[in-house]
Amino acid sequence: MPKISLIVPCYNEELTIDIFYQAVEKVFRDHADVFQDVTHEYRFIDDGSTDQTLTKLQQLQATDPETVHYLSFSRNFGKEAGLAAGLQVADGDYVAVMDVDLQDPPALLPEMFQILSDSQYDCVGTLRASRHGEPAIRSFFSRAFYSVINKISKIQIVPNARDYRLMTRQMVDAILELPEYNRFSKGIFSWVGFNTKYITFENTPRSAGKSHWSFWQLLNYSVEAIVDFSEVPLKVATFIGSFFAFMSVIGIIFIIIRKLIWGNSVGGWASLVCIILLVGGIQLFCLGIIGNYIGKIYLESKHRPQYIVKKQK
Ligand code: UDP
Ligand code: MG
Repeated sequence: MPKISLIVPCYNEELTIDIFYQAVEKVFRDHADVFQDVTHEYRFIDDGSTDQTLTKLQQLQATDPETVHYLSFSRNFGKEAGLAAGLQVADGDYVAVMDVDLQDPPALLPEMFQILSDSQYDCVGTLRASRHGEPAIRSFFSRAFYSVINKISKIQIVPNARDYRLMTRQMVDAILELPEYNRFSKGIFSWVGFNTKYITFENTPRSAGKSHWSFWQLLNYSVEAIVDFSEVPLKVATFIGSFFAFMSVIGIIFIIIRKLIWGNSVGGWASLVCIILLVGGIQLFCLGIIGNYIGKIYLESKHRPQYIVKKQK
């Protein structure tokens, strides 16, 4: 009997867990024809919640011990660590990754499962049809992020794709081969290859509770993604440096000729200060980029675990 594992990261989600469980169970019940001879299991990851999330998960586990499993972290390690932990413990033949707030509609599961079982696809991903209900500035930055990362890295990330996806065992095993500490899942899903089909759905608001991502966290996450999947920023220093070296040669020639024709001329200190500030600024900018990469190397080289488990069932 094939099994579907549902990986569900939860951080302070005491309000949404029960709603989520009911909604998913209903989908499996209502589509018994599609899920004939298919079992499913939940792999909830409590990402160090400070509310009653773990208690809720324990209660749910007690009511349905065969299908509900949870893993609780010793502190908040971030959604990426939660996904990594889920992929490591899930042993289904198909593995889905979904948010607990119902922004990843469980109603799509039958269609996703059918695509995987009837065709050659290894993964079914999901796209939001629109970004309605999101602040304009957030949409703007997200568009900018996708266009930058797709230009400067070898992997391609489909704009507006969510993490919500159903994958075959083979693809999950491939993902587990990547031991990196700094994880950007959308990039990893794309990096491992395989055939992914995308289906589109309308953006749905959260079932309850509130989003955990602030604008700055998202901005930080984007920088992380770029550093993880592109070396192009490292080359920026070389390009800018070459350009300025070339400009300075022209400047030197100009100054020598001016000196020969008009003799010594004092003045121009204002332009000099501007140039020094500009070049100094660019140097610091480039140093910052290099620093970002060195920071990542430092973190990777410490070989710390991605998460620490406190309770598990
Ligand atoms: N999440 C998590 N750890 C965190 C932040 C979020 O496991 O540090 C989970 C959260 O419980 C939810 C999913 O990641 O299931 C998406 O989070 P959220 O809905 O807050 O993000 P948004 O949908 O606003 O992007
Ligand atoms: Mg959400």
